[in-house]
Amino acid sequence: MAGMKNIWVFADKKDAILELCAGGRTLGDKVTALVIAPRTDAEQVIAGGADQVYWLGDKQDGKLIEDYFAAIFDLIQTQKPDVVLLGTTKRCKLMAGRLAARLGTSALMDVMEFSATDNGLQAKRMVYGGAAVRTESSAADLTIATVGPGVFEKLPEDSGRQGTIEDVAAAAGSAITCVEKRPKVGESVNLAAAKRVVAVGRGIANKEDLKMIEELAGLLGAEIGCSRPLAEGVDWLPRERYIGVSGVMFKPDLYIGIGISGQIQHMVGCNQAKTIVAINKDKAAPIFQQADYGIVGDLYKAIPALIEVLKK
Ligand SMILES: Cc1cc2nc3c(=O)[nH]c(=O)nc-3n(C[C@H](O)[C@H](O)[C@H](O)COP(=O)(O)OP(=O)(O)OC[C@H]3O[C@@H](n4cnc5c(N)ncnc54)[C@H](O)[C@@H]3O)c2cc1C
Repeated sequence: MAGMKNIWVFADKKDAILELCAGGRTLGDKVTALVIAPRTDAEQVIAGGADQVYWLGDKQDGKLIEDYFAAIFDLIQTQKPDVVLLGTTKRCKLMAGRLAARLGTSALMDVMEFSATDNGLQAKRMVYGGAAVRTESSAADLTIATVGPGVFEKLPEDSGRQGTIEDVAAAAGSAITCVEKRPKVGESVNLAAAKRVVAVGRGIANKEDLKMIEELAGLLGAEIGCSRPLAEGVDWLPRERYIGVSGVMFKPDLYIGIGISGQIQHMVGCNQAKTIVAINKDKAAPIFQQADYGIVGDLYKAIPALIEVLKK
C-alpha cells in the first residue's frame, strides 16, 4: 500500500493483538505491537506476525489499560507510525478516542474492512444497526482505527520469525482505582473463537427443547449461539451467546441457523462463515438467501433426524 509503512497494533487480549498483527501485515511494510502482558506474550506476538514489540511490562495489579495512556501516547508521538489499529473493547475504544484527540487526528470505529486509495486508507463499518455500510476515509497523516474480532484471521504461529522486543519503562498512572474484581457468576463462553456454531432462534418453542440443540452441538463439536430474542427476550441463553451487530461478530468455519429468520442485524454477525446452513420451515425466510445449504422444514423433525444420522 502506497505510503503505508509502519502499522502499530494494540489490544487488551493477546488473540486480538495477533489478529491485528495479521491485518497489519496486509496494510503495511512493518508491524509494531504494543504489549502490556507477560513477556512470553511479546515473544508470541513476534511469532504471530509482528516485526517489533514495545513491551510495556506485565499489567500491574489493579491497573487498567488506559493507565498506560501516557507511555503509549509518547511512543506514538515520537515514533510516528502511519496507522494505529486497536481492538474494539470499550477500553480500547476509550484509548483510541483519547489518542486521536491528543494527537490531533480522528478515530475510525468498528472497522470491518480496509482498502487503499491514492489518498490513503478507506474503511467500511456498519451503520443503522447493520442495515447499511458506510465507507469513510482518513485524510490525516496518522490513522487510528478500532477493529473487531474476526475481521482479520490470525497467522499460523511461526517460532522462527525474527523480530525485536524493546522494553519500555511505563509507569501506569491512574485516575481510577480498581477496588474489587470478582469472577462473573454463571457461564462464560468465547463464541468469537468457535470454529463451529449451532445457532438457535425464535423457531424453538420451549426452553426444554434446547436439550436437542445441545445434543446436536455436542455431536458436531460446536458451540451454541442464538439470535437476540433468545438472550434478550425470553432469556433462555446468556447474552454472550447471541450473534449479530449488537452481539458477537465472527467468522466460524460452520454456522447452522435453526429457527432463525435471518434478519440483517443477526446475519452481519455470521455471514462471513465459511459454510452457512439454515433450517427453517418458511422457505421465504431471508436466511436462505445467505445459506450455502438449506433445509426447508420443521426443526422438530429435522434436528432429531440429523442427530440420528450423526450418531451412526
Ligand atoms: C438496532 C437493532 C439491533 C439488533 N441486533 C441484533 C443482534 O445483534 N442479533 C440478533 O440476533 N438480532 C438483533 N436484532 C433483532 C433482529 O432484528 C431480529 O428481530 C432477530 O434476529 C430475530 O430473531 P429470530 O430470527 O430468532 O426470530 P424471528 O424473526 O421471529 O424468526 C423465527 C424463525 O423461526 C422459524 N420457525 C418457527 N418455527 C419453526 C419450526 N418449528 N421449524 C423451523 N423453523 C421455524 C420461522 O419461520 C422464522 O423464520 C436487532 C434489532 C435491532 C432493531
